[in-house]
Amino acid sequence: MTLALYDTMTRKKRDFAPRDPSRVTMYVCGPTVYNFAHIGNFRPVVVFDVLFRLLRHLYGRHAVLYAANVTDVDDKINRKAAEEGVPISTITDRYLSAYNADAAALGALRPTFQPRVTETMDAIVKMIGDLVGNGSAYAAEGHVLFDTQSFKDYGKLSGHPLEDMIAGARVDVAPYKRHPADFVLWKPSKENEPEWESPFGPGRPGWHIECSAMIEEALGLPIDIHGGGIDLVFPHHENELAQGVCAGHATEYAHAWMHNGFLNMAEEKMSKSLGNVALAHDLVEKYPGEALRWALLVGHYRAQLEWTSELIDQAKRSLDRLYGALRRSSGVAAEPVDPPEAFMTALLDDLNTPAALAELFAMATKLETVAGGGRAHAKGELLAAANLLGFLTADPEFWFQGGADEDLKAKVEGLIAERLAARQAKDWAAADRIRDELAALNVEVMDGPTGATWRLKEQA
Ligand code: AMP
Ligand code: ZN
Repeated sequence: MTLALYDTMTRKKRDFAPRDPSRVTMYVCGPTVYNFAHIGNFRPVVVFDVLFRLLRHLYGRHAVLYAANVTDVDDKINRKAAEEGVPISTITDRYLSAYNADAAALGALRPTFQPRVTETMDAIVKMIGDLVGNGSAYAAEGHVLFDTQSFKDYGKLSGHPLEDMIAGARVDVAPYKRHPADFVLWKPSKENEPEWESPFGPGRPGWHIECSAMIEEALGLPIDIHGGGIDLVFPHHENELAQGVCAGHATEYAHAWMHNGFLNMAEEKMSKSLGNVALAHDLVEKYPGEALRWALLVGHYRAQLEWTSELIDQAKRSLDRLYGALRRSSGVAAEPVDPPEAFMTALLDDLNTPAALAELFAMATKLETVAGGGRAHAKGELLAAANLLGFLTADPEFWFQGGADEDLKAKVEGLIAERLAARQAKDWAAADRIRDELAALNVEVMDGPTGATWRLKEQA
């Protein structure tokens, strides 16, 4: 079984072969930390977390190096800090902590490295110096620009050849540019903006060079996999690639380019500028993280996905089904086994998560229908496969109680106490009435020797 991944550069699904199987490298463009991120921003986080987990499964836990950067130099960050009258680092630290907490709630493992622009400035300045030194970049009016005409493959990744890039179409025009597609590597800072010293004058880097330098610092070029959302193909990744190769540090930049499709809301790309966003920070308060993660994985990562409350409810019910199967087999010790072949085949086929999730249902059915000793094996398979995807990590009892919000919990505990009092007073009619009330709340009460416990019933 071989892992096949769709590569944006060659526009084909290709067998994946890392340059060094004992050191597999992946980089994914991360957030600009100026605000809470929306759930669309977490689609790449969850998708590439699945790939990270799969690579660790295939090559070994310590063989995979995953870097996801943080952009902590940006106009939007400066604006926000000025609005609140606080230092820039207060803003970036606050939203980076929230981002990491929300990613963890969605079951994403911490990447091996999380480089920040502010901590990579020396490497950025050095890379720009190398580009100027070998004629791939030029200084103009206090800026340093990348000379797109110096790179013969410019436009290959996105399929936008230079000659098609007429002024004003997809690129900023400026009189000092040699070609309209040339882009900024270094620029002067405006008043009250942070600035760094450099041989090209005090200033700050452009966005694209940051990633190239962070990749080189964290992982070294070339890398095996470069990922991000589909909106990053042009100009961001096209430019990253051009700089990385032209800096003369490697002939290849990334072996496979992977891009996730958009998460939409009301049939449009979820984005802050359109205002159609659901913040992950709010969602993780309302729903179990695994349900949100499941919702993000029910579609293939390259397809668009529409974010709706039905999608989340459906995801929650799917997990109820799997946790229910685990709960009903709580007396069975799981055998330590590998995930079954049909599941792996789905995942290895360019991360076909919809098919892999469907396999989890087949495993749950098997667990509940197979006889005798087969159950330990079936339970082991279900857990191995689900855990590989970051699911079924909770205790089933906890899962069914965790679905209750605080208000419901308080109400249920109150009713149970009332019912106990009614029973002690031998008021059977009242006790029955309260039990019916609890049933209407979808709560099942179990009377045990040490008192009553309760759980939420599975939804059909
Ligand atoms: P940004 O903060 O806009 O640079 O986005 C961070 C990451 O989220 C990038 O990889 C984007 O491509 C990705 N992204 C942003 N919006 C969406 C969306 N609606 N659906 C999927 N991915 C997105
Ligand atoms: Zn990037």
